[in-house]
Amino acid sequence: MKTLLTVFCFFTLFSAVAQNSVFKACIYLEDSVTVSNGFVVFPLTKDTVFTDKSGIISFELTNPKYRLCYFTWMGLKSKIFRFTSSEAPVSIQKVFVPDTAFYRPFHEKHVCPVCLKSKYVIPIVYGYPSPKMFKRFKKNRIMLGGCIIQEYQPEFFCRRDEFEF
Ligand SMILES: [Zn+2]
Repeated sequence: MKTLLTVFCFFTLFSAVAQNSVFKACIYLEDSVTVSNGFVVFPLTKDTVFTDKSGIISFELTNPKYRLCYFTWMGLKSKIFRFTSSEAPVSIQKVFVPDTAFYRPFHEKHVCPVCLKSKYVIPIVYGYPSPKMFKRFKKNRIMLGGCIIQEYQPEFFCRRDEFEF
């Protein structure tokens, strides 16, 4: 019994040491240029972690609320990461922004990539708002996107997560 307990303790200790729970990532633009002033957002807590001096973002996956996240730089978003356990890869991961391929099916189905629901998703309408647009905005039917038209601007807004995609 004593031996069994010792073996059990040894394995618990060993697995705790061997398992890495810190996720480390670098943000890259699609053309493989790395950026240094991005951050990670955890939609469940609204917490953020910024890039450190060496250009790396690192955070603990031991907190289950940190297992849902996305990386962002200048409004460009990575895909949504969903970790199923606290186990993180040992090496630094390359995260790309914007991940247009990831968001395409969500755009097509009008589904929020964070909560995976369509109930709270409304379109973002750009341009100078007309009185009709204002009415629809007040009724939470649309989100006003402003007059500036840029590349990669979000098409939808989830009212539940306050998430643009
Ligand atoms: Zn949502």
